[in-house]
Parts: sequence; structure tokens; C-alpha cells
Amino acid sequence: MINEIPRVRFAPSPTGYLHVGGLRTALYNYLFAKRNNGKFILRIEDTDRNRYVEGAVENLIKALKWSGLQFDEGPEVGGNFGPYFQSERLDIYKKYADELIAKGKAYYCFCTPERLKALREEQEKQKLPQAKYDKHCLYLSKDEIDKNLSNGIAKVVRLNVEPNQVIKFDDIIRGHIEFESNNIDDQVLIKSDGYPTYHLANVVDDHLMKITHVIRGEEWLSSTPKHVLLYDAFGWERPNFAHLPLLLNPDRSKLSKRQGDVAVEDYRDKGYLKEALINFVALLGWNDGDDKEFYYMDELIKRFSLDRVNKAGAVFDLQKLNWLNSEHLRKKSIEELLNLLKDEIQKSPIGMISQNFKDQKYPDDYLIKIIQVMKERVSFVKEFIDTCTYFYEAPTEYEHKSVEKNWNSETPKHLNKLKEKFSSLNNPTKEDFELALTTVSEELNLGKGKLIHPLRLAVSGQSTGPGMFDILFILGKDEVINRIDTAIKILAQ
Ligand code: GLU
Repeated sequence: MINEIPRVRFAPSPTGYLHVGGLRTALYNYLFAKRNNGKFILRIEDTDRNRYVEGAVENLIKALKWSGLQFDEGPEVGGNFGPYFQSERLDIYKKYADELIAKGKAYYCFCTPERLKALREEQEKQKLPQAKYDKHCLYLSKDEIDKNLSNGIAKVVRLNVEPNQVIKFDDIIRGHIEFESNNIDDQVLIKSDGYPTYHLANVVDDHLMKITHVIRGEEWLSSTPKHVLLYDAFGWERPNFAHLPLLLNPDRSKLSKRQGDVAVEDYRDKGYLKEALINFVALLGWNDGDDKEFYYMDELIKRFSLDRVNKAGAVFDLQKLNWLNSEHLRKKSIEELLNLLKDEIQKSPIGMISQNFKDQKYPDDYLIKIIQVMKERVSFVKEFIDTCTYFYEAPTEYEHKSVEKNWNSETPKHLNKLKEKFSSLNNPTKEDFELALTTVSEELNLGKGKLIHPLRLAVSGQSTGPGMFDILFILGKDEVINRIDTAIKILAQ
């Protein structure tokens, strides 16, 4: 536990969906806050008007809530440090930019895009390692500046980066880090449209919102020296920094859309459990120093620490996510699974079928029986339907290979015999069905397998699945008899 009460933030720029990397950042911030009795804040960094996407913030909040990451302050919930949308804080950024100008730490720049382009081309020609603004406007006289301002000439505000400095800071994950100020451009702080850039808005807000720990992805590490310069220019205390490792594809390239899904919403829609996704994402860069891989959120809160976050990139291994999904699924209670299955039935074509043998209604006790026999065989809730549709609808097609192997001219006679025997049973249990089949196999002097395979085919249309007597018991005597009749009609032709 750390001593001060931490305040951390997740500060996404809404793009329309929540990236799994964003979920990891949000989760680590959340875990850190909960572990240390701190506050988790959501701040929307929406100052890039060119990237505005309708509904993006709503989507993001929905995805965060689905994942169980409840924020203490932010949009919808409010708090004492709002507004939590940067687009509603423009006056604040302007005030602080003016303060920097007054201190000589920032300056107006009136250079035209043409001049900046020519400058860049010239520097490229000279093969300079990186194009940088030449501070031309830093040396304008007060009169020139005032004239330009009163004439309404387009302008930006730039940070005045002093050359030949070493910018130093400590990162909780990466240790001591140094950057040379000669490699840092005079960053734009306020754009010509009056909006702040990420750097200014981020630092001003982290300061005003009393953020103690900035926990974000490694891709922001190169921005940190610029932020450090800003904190120093304002004379503000710097927060602690922790830069999380990159997420990688299995080929160790940067995790990208091209190699699979990156949106949390895609995983949700594919039927991944939020518990599994959270468990998986927690392990992308963190472990507890042992081999444990299965975690619930409350355990993660107890165990998480930034000291155990790795520097090395974390590989996004879909197979592991699938495995965790089946583990979490298996640990759910029958009641939870029943609710999940009912939701899934609503979404599935099975839920829309007007007529089926259960008259479109699957009673809870019927679904529970399916769950009990299928639980160990599925990894996703939807597989309680997709891998055993025969529990919901009578088969109309029969697995070709199994028909060839297990169905011959004698089969209808054998199945009719079974049918007769089953008809005489009263509310048969699984064991009753089994006993009846054993009796028939003895009467026909036939190995049990010779009856079981065609019977399984007749009732399920498939050659694999859970125990056949379980299937018979779940379907019930009448349905089993109907299905035997149908199969004989179709397959005897
Ligand atoms: N708005 C930045 C983003 O989209 C925030 C980075 C940070 O946490 O400082 O991720």
C-alpha cells in the first residue's frame, strides 16, 4: 500500500470503440486505485475536432461499464474536479497558456503552413535527424506580436524548449529515464482553432484534477519529457509516471486491427465473458510472481501492484483468452449459466423459431438439464446452443459419414424394437433408457454399439456429443419416439 491517497485517471480520446489496450490501461488504473483506496477518474480527451465520432463517448462508457470498471469521477457521475470533457475546459487551457507566455516559457507563432513546409523540406535536405521549428517567432518584437494579434493573423502557441538541457524523470516500471531537450520540438500547445493540444490539456488537467499517478501505455513515453517541461515551466509538482508495456501480436508486431479484433465490443459480441476478458487483460504485462492465471476481479484488486508490471511487450494470445473463457464459464453457477443461456436464446435463430417441439418455450428445468450435461464440453455460452441444436429442434439432416457407417437395411427393424420398448416405459430416467437398450440388445443378440450409434444418429443427427442416455433423458420419451419415426422415414428411403 502506498501512503498518499492516489488519484488516477483513464484519459481516452474517443475513437468510436474501446481498444483492448485501452481496457488494459483502464484496468490497471482501476486496480491500482482500488488496491490503495484511491479514486479512479474518467476524463474524455476530445480536443481533436477532426477525430470527432458521433456516439463514441457513449460507446466507450458502455464498454467500460460492461467490463465492470466503475469510475468514481467523470462523465455521468460527476465529481469535484469537472468538467471531465476537455472540450468543455477551453477557457482553462487558454488561461494557463497565457500564463506560460507571460513567463516567457511559451510564445505565439504566426508562421504560415507554407513557411513551415519550406522549413521542413530544407531540414530534410540537410538530413537533420528530425524536423524542428526554428523558433523564428520567439524573436518577434512586442510590437510585431501585438500588430499580428490585433490583425487577427492565424497563430498557435508554442512551448519554448530550452536547448542543451537533459530532461530527467523516474518511471515506476522503466526506472530512470533521460531525454535531451535538443531532440524536442517547440510543441504546439494551443492550435490555430483555439483548442489545446494533447500535451497542454493533459498536463493542466492532471494537475488540476490532482492526479498522483499517470499510468498509461508505452506509446506515450516520448510525450513525457514534454510534459515534464510543462510541469517545470508552471512550477508544479510532477505526478508519478508508469508506462505500461506494448501489446503485441503473436509475431511480436504491434497489436493491430489487421491481425484480429482489437475492440472490447467485438469480444463482448462474440460471447466472451467479461470476467474472462478482464482476467486475460490483467495478465497482459502483470503477474503475481507465480504461475497463477485464473483470477476474479476482487482477487486482482488484492494482488495488483505496479512493481510487478513488466517492461517487455505482452503478447496477445487468443488461445489463452479462449481457455480462460472456458475456465470462467465452468466456474459459474447453474443459475448464472441459465440466465446467460436464456439471453443467448433470445439472440439466436432458435429463439425466433415459431414452431418446435417445445412449442417455442424452453422451461428452466429443461435448459438446466442441457447445461448440466454440456457444461464441461463448451467454452462459450452460445455453444450451449450451437453444438447441440438437437436439444432445441428435431434434426432434419443426419451426419453423412455416420449414416454410411452406422445405418443399414436392418437398422429400421432394430430401432422399431427400441421404440416399442421405450413406449412401455413410464417417465423413463437415464438408467431406464439404458436398461431398455440393454434388454433389446440381448433380445436381438446384438452388441450394444450396434444400437447406440444409429439411435444417437436418429435422435441428434450427429455422431458425437454428450452421453446418449443423457440426450434421451433430456428429450423425453415422446420426443425420442417421434425422432426415431422421422429418421426411419427419411433414412430408409
Ligand atoms: N488521450 C490520450 C489517449 O488517447 C491519453 C494518454 C494519457 O493517458 O496521457 O490515450
